[in-house]
Amino acid sequence: MLQRTRKAIILVSLLMFPVTLNYFSPYVSFDGAMNGLVSGSLILFAMLFLSGLFFGRAWCGWACPMAGLSEYALSVNGKSVNTKKLRKIRLGIFTLWFAGIISMFVLAGGIRGVVPLHMTERFISVDEPMKYIIYYMVLLLFTGLTFVLGKRGACHSICWMSPFLEGGYRLGRWLKLPQLRILSKPLSCISCGACDRKCQMGINVSEGLKKGSIEDADCILCGECTGACKKDVLSFGTRKR
Ligand code: SF4
Ligand code: SF4
Ligand code: SF4
Repeated sequence: MLQRTRKAIILVSLLMFPVTLNYFSPYVSFDGAMNGLVSGSLILFAMLFLSGLFFGRAWCGWACPMAGLSEYALSVNGKSVNTKKLRKIRLGIFTLWFAGIISMFVLAGGIRGVVPLHMTERFISVDEPMKYIIYYMVLLLFTGLTFVLGKRGACHSICWMSPFLEGGYRLGRWLKLPQLRILSKPLSCISCGACDRKCQMGINVSEGLKKGSIEDADCILCGECTGACKKDVLSFGTRKR
């Protein structure tokens, strides 16, 4: 039931993507920064950072439009990716882009205004033929990377939003805030590996249990592992650290 609900939510989010595209756009943030404006997408990225403080990367498992696309692409290529190598690429892209945004604000003389509908004056992101081309290019990019690389390939390799979520998650951990997470009872584990096979992000959950911690900055709290475990080793919970 939990997974059906989750998949329904991410499907709706994916169907809404023509409306919401600009609010996730790295270009809209950049264009806003060139004019000294805080755009809707930059506001959304800040909100993702704040959500990470308490909910880690739950956005990626439960709400992101690209989550639906990535999960449907799993049926074509479900192999786990080399997360360490792709993380470096992802953080490299993010650093360049974010440094560019800061530089643009500096060149524009600082923040001159907040315009949530910057480049989305008609509320709907995809409202002219050129934007349809961009929309389909984004879909193609995310699907293609998952087809080629494997499980959530685009999330691991190019996503410019995940560093905000991960940053919030790490800060929340450091501040010892109560965070939503997967709790475990390692002594009940029989090392069947069902959780590993189901993990959306290619995390080796059973190995983590053996080592004493399943904490992972890549965990998107999708709950696939909790549903797969027949020994009730894994469950959702919050724990004040
Ligand atoms: S990693 Fe990025 S694209 Fe993937 S689900 Fe999370 S926010 Fe969306
Ligand atoms: S560890 Fe579990 S909750 Fe986290 S991403 Fe993997 S399957 Fe989802
Ligand atoms: S599915 Fe449960 S019992 Fe099997 S390896 Fe994972 S945590 Fe252990």
